[in-house]
Amino acid sequence: MLLPPRVDRHAHLEGSLDAAWVRQQAGREGKTVPDTLEALWRGETLPFEGFIPAFFFSCGFLRGSAAVREVFRAAVNRLPAPEDGQPRGIDLWVSPHYLCVHEKLLTLDELWRGMEEGIADAAAAGVKVAVIIDAVNHFGIRHGHEVLDLVLGNRPPWVVGFSTGGIEGVPFREWAPVFERARKAGMRLAAHAGENGPGTHVRDAIVEAGVSRIVHGVHAAAHPEILELLAERRIPVDVCLTSNRGLIPGLGPHPLPKMLRAGVRCALGTDDPGVMPCDVPGEWQAARELGLAVEELEALRRHAVEDAWCFKV
Ligand SMILES: [Zn+2]
Repeated sequence: MLLPPRVDRHAHLEGSLDAAWVRQQAGREGKTVPDTLEALWRGETLPFEGFIPAFFFSCGFLRGSAAVREVFRAAVNRLPAPEDGQPRGIDLWVSPHYLCVHEKLLTLDELWRGMEEGIADAAAAGVKVAVIIDAVNHFGIRHGHEVLDLVLGNRPPWVVGFSTGGIEGVPFREWAPVFERARKAGMRLAAHAGENGPGTHVRDAIVEAGVSRIVHGVHAAAHPEILELLAERRIPVDVCLTSNRGLIPGLGPHPLPKMLRAGVRCALGTDDPGVMPCDVPGEWQAARELGLAVEELEALRRHAVEDAWCFKV
């Protein structure tokens, strides 16, 4: 029996607070958990318009470094146990601009301090963490530059990458100068692409914006030439089965098998596991249920470690 990978290749700090912890905080503050979040916690799927307020309610409790540290405890618990000696790690996306400037939930110093402590806690449990800064695609490139203005002057060593997320509304060729600035500052480049936008966005992110890693990318499966590009350039693709099922209407059977068979270096992530409950063993089980052959499962497990950024910090 193949053991699951020991790596969560894509999780957002803002979507990773444990449900029980959020419920406890809400109770303490006399707040009612919205029906949308309760529904997601029960495993129901909602349209994107339902997901967003649930997500915001949950991450609204990220006020201060202690709450940030709490995310890491929850994230480590979502990894398989360490008994087989395999390396364990998490590639964690975070949106400092959203938390510290847009919502003013905490200061950048508090965010970095909570993350520093959380990363030390994870290291004590044998888990490596890399952090990727997320900017919101549909807020446009001015926002992208503001995100870089915020982090580049005060960047901890474990912040290794820059990414776009959100709605794929602004073309990647417009984002190219922002990615170039991040690259020149020594950051690795990733993008959410081919998730809520067409598969061609995956090609655009690689060819026009120069990213070396794709998050989701599932709509690329409809384009053999884009799968070929991903395989040829050995671009890692982080696939999140629970999240994709919830947030991509009409996806049908998940294209992970097709992507792996085309030679794409896919690995599994949890995306927003505190909002849409899931963990790495559960995602692995879901992948097995897609009917992958043993060598495809082995590839999925191998990529998880080989392409992770947390082992390259
Ligand atoms: Zn994501």
